[in-house]
Amino acid sequence: MALTFDDLPIASAGAAAGAAEAARVNRAILAALARHRAPATAFVIEQRVERIGVSPGRAILREWLAQGCDLGNHTYSHPDLNALTVEQFRGEVIRGEASIGPLLAERGLRPRYFRFPNNHSGDTRQKHDAAASVLAERGYTLAVCTIDNSDWEFARAYDVALAHTDRDSAQKLEAAYLRYTADEIDYYSGLHKKIFGREIPHVMLQHANRLNAAVMDQVLALFEARGYRFVTLETAQADAAYRTPDAVTGYGPMWAYRWANALGIKIDGRLEPSVPAWIGESGKTGK
Ligand SMILES: [Zn+2]
Repeated sequence: MALTFDDLPIASAGAAAGAAEAARVNRAILAALARHRAPATAFVIEQRVERIGVSPGRAILREWLAQGCDLGNHTYSHPDLNALTVEQFRGEVIRGEASIGPLLAERGLRPRYFRFPNNHSGDTRQKHDAAASVLAERGYTLAVCTIDNSDWEFARAYDVALAHTDRDSAQKLEAAYLRYTADEIDYYSGLHKKIFGREIPHVMLQHANRLNAAVMDQVLALFEARGYRFVTLETAQADAAYRTPDAVTGYGPMWAYRWANALGIKIDGRLEPSVPAWIGESGKTGK
């Protein structure tokens, strides 16, 4: 399986924290990846680099490269493709290269992977194909994802708990997050068996947030306990399953749902484990 982290240098709520906290979060995630010898690809929102400061922002991104991880493009400002013209999308992709382009060039590399904000890959066939052409024209491979654990939703509640120095709630959230992650691994592995008759390498979507900084060791251990090995995004997506066409959607489901749709295989999405309702509530109220 391959690991990917979105919304670098720091995801949503943590963005208010500034460069020092962003650096701490990234270092904690990188340290866990190093302990588990796990490669990863990190997807950068250039506007977030600017927000915490180009110099400290790029210093964080250099740490990923120094550890042998790859950096990908997640657009300039994380817009919703459903609301963009193709020309606006092209501008977002190009501006998204402002930091990752030079940083990768320092190492003789170039940006190779792109991930759509919210995995919105075009809500009409025309836009889907035009966006794909923009990416191909600039030399990108689309980074898909086959499993997520709604980490952003748990992380929002976790940030609220930390803001109230509510250690009990934070611990409860960590435990619920790990339980849900385990359920999602088993669910999506089962989904792939149903679609392809076998397990395929996973591409896991997570974000650079405080929750993952705290528990990444345990998240990785859940995969290890099920016999998964960590490989690069390139290795995972080299599997033949990743050449399956994807169905057009205006929203951002994991790719198994798109593949099943394109292949005419019936999947009941209602069977997917839900994030417990109290997680969403505590993200709003801080209780
Ligand atoms: Zn994102």
